[in-house]
Amino acid sequence: MKTKIAIIGGGIVGSTVAYYLSQLKGHQEIEVTMFDDGHGQATKAAAGIICPWLSKRRNKQWYHLARAGAQLLPKLAKTTAMPANEYNQSGGIITRSTDDAVNAVYQLAIQRKVNAPTMGQIRKLTAQQVKDQIPVLDHSQPGVMVTGGARINGQKLSEHLIKIAQKRNLAVIPKNVQMVNDHELKTTDHDYKFSKIVVATGAWIRKTLLPLGIKADIRPQKGQLIRVHVRDTPEKENMPVLMPEGEYDFLPFGHGQLVIGATHEDQMGFDLRPNHTNALKLLSSAQKLVDHVTPDDIDQVRTGTRGYTGDYGPFFGAIPQHPDLLTGGGLGSSGLTTGPIIGKFLAQMILTDPVINFDYYEKPIKKYFRFND
Ligand SMILES: Cc1cc2nc3c(=O)[nH]c(=O)nc-3n(C[C@H](O)[C@H](O)[C@H](O)COP(=O)(O)OP(=O)(O)OC[C@H]3O[C@@H](n4cnc5c(N)ncnc54)[C@H](O)[C@@H]3O)c2cc1C
Repeated sequence: MKTKIAIIGGGIVGSTVAYYLSQLKGHQEIEVTMFDDGHGQATKAAAGIICPWLSKRRNKQWYHLARAGAQLLPKLAKTTAMPANEYNQSGGIITRSTDDAVNAVYQLAIQRKVNAPTMGQIRKLTAQQVKDQIPVLDHSQPGVMVTGGARINGQKLSEHLIKIAQKRNLAVIPKNVQMVNDHELKTTDHDYKFSKIVVATGAWIRKTLLPLGIKADIRPQKGQLIRVHVRDTPEKENMPVLMPEGEYDFLPFGHGQLVIGATHEDQMGFDLRPNHTNALKLLSSAQKLVDHVTPDDIDQVRTGTRGYTGDYGPFFGAIPQHPDLLTGGGLGSSGLTTGPIIGKFLAQMILTDPVINFDYYEKPIKKYFRFND
């Protein structure tokens, strides 16, 4: 009899767990079932920027995790033959208003490159050179370019990994599922039993675990972004992502398409309705760099719900006191970067080593859980 494993959630975490459970040694001995209702998935809405090296976040475990995630992604894209337009190492540019600030970013980049070869080349750019890289820009500031920065289509990556896993040991049930206990789940029409369950429900982790008396420190945060179509722009296919100082991030695509985002809205719960005022705020950020974009040029508004923790740190591993319940969450706004490595670690815990020590990559997981008496 094969060991039965369940994954709840088919976003970036759930799909990479599924992928590695279908590839790692021992995959022949297990049967994996994924439940996903697909509602509000952050992975589908995400902007897709992978460029963690110049972050000033002080959580060093987060940085180690994000760096490892950014290193894993190009390998994963290559091994699984992901199409180039879905994972694109297009480079990333950070701009600053003064030369001193540009120099500070440059020094940080040089320092971080020592342990992060994926960063590729690091170059200081004048404002004109930034515009040459991204011709859609009418205005810019000087900045620093990191050629290893990338953009990824989170939805396509998840679908791609799930498809590969389905060829081996994965079955997908596109339904909402409730937890009965550490080994049992139920949908509206069926009960299931598993040896281990991976809870990868993103912003919904708290809700998923509450019936078992487990309280995860996970809060929902709404994110919204817009896509505008800039008319009559010089054609260039492959452009870096841009992270301008004090403004929303820019992802320029070919044919004048520009994605701008994303908002961080902590008070909106699970509300996914697009907000017009916020769409205009995003547009006004774009208008500082690109002339002549108007509300009429917005051709898409996307929203999703991220899960984040009280200290913004992600967690992953077996839930304390529940060795057969694994989880990975609290990925916040960098989950496409950290999700795949978390998925890989969780699969390794199931197939190779249940007690891997991840102190280097996360604060103790018990910090994020409380239990009913
Ligand atoms: C607008 C926006 C922009 C972003 N931009 C970036 C970016 O540029 N770079 C970056 O690195 N990160 C970015 N992120 C963050 C990143 O998208 C998330 O951190 C990451 O995708 C979270 O992945 P996840 O697998 O934990 O959760 P999700 O992708 O949310 O997946 C969880 C899944 O579980 C399902 N589910 C929940 N409960 C149940 C249940 N009971 N039964 C069945 N299914 C259930 C949900 O429907 C969902 O499909 C962005 C996020 C947003 C919202």
